[in-house]
Amino acid sequence: MVFDKNMGDFSTDAILLRKVEYGDHDLIITFLTRDKGKICVMAKNAKKSVRRFSGAMDLFSVNHIQCAFPKKNRDAMINLCQTVLENGFSHIRYDVVNTAYASYWTEIVTQWLEEGKAQPDIFELLYTALEMVDDGFIRTEVISLLFQIRFMRLSGFSPGLDQCDACCTGIEAIDSARLWFDFKAGRVVCPQCKGNMPGSQEPAGPFGGRAQGCWVSKGTLKQLSWINTVEMARADRIKFSPIAIKEGEILLESFIPFHIGRHFNSLNFLYKMRSEI
Ligand SMILES: [Zn+2]
Repeated sequence: MVFDKNMGDFSTDAILLRKVEYGDHDLIITFLTRDKGKICVMAKNAKKSVRRFSGAMDLFSVNHIQCAFPKKNRDAMINLCQTVLENGFSHIRYDVVNTAYASYWTEIVTQWLEEGKAQPDIFELLYTALEMVDDGFIRTEVISLLFQIRFMRLSGFSPGLDQCDACCTGIEAIDSARLWFDFKAGRVVCPQCKGNMPGSQEPAGPFGGRAQGCWVSKGTLKQLSWINTVEMARADRIKFSPIAIKEGEILLESFIPFHIGRHFNSLNFLYKMRSEI
């Protein structure tokens, strides 16, 4: 925690990432806040006090929250004093597939971010992604690609998709429809350099060798690069082919857990939902 506990009470906008029941009446809630990054707070009597905590404090909802640092025991948790619901994103919560995607994004944020370190650009990214899903103009699969690649860039781990990591040839100049994306390096490699690497003789199938990397077509790489840098206001122009969506999902949903170094429960749920569509 990098909080200065002398800074007094505070209020900020916050996205509800996670809530856990504590005893019969209380909740421990993890928020991503605009001003103070990820915080974990105690909501006393949350299950009874409708007046102090408007709305049902649902997952993914955006609230304006008021908090107080503990006065006596300085190691105790921050107290949540009051919340005012700003956006409940009902189109997400009443749709099981949208819920699966939003759960995956919030798990990434919960696992990756350090507590108490303000990252307003990540707050804005998650807020915008949830808003886009709630609006329903862009396919949630595409919003998920946009969220993941931009999250990695803001975290300083942007995947390298523009040139071969070994020979530095730009992907436009590489005479092959597909390139290898290495999960560990987070970079693409052209087929020739890939063939020259020791011990890397995976078949050049479309999704071969998923454990260490995957083959991705150039068109998908170009589209992923584009959504990484395009202004969010222009995101409604994004057009992804079904193949590009599939390849983008395999690349990012493998790269991120590989990079963060853990398994995501929310991804199993997402895979299950996809298989039932
Ligand atoms: Zn190369």
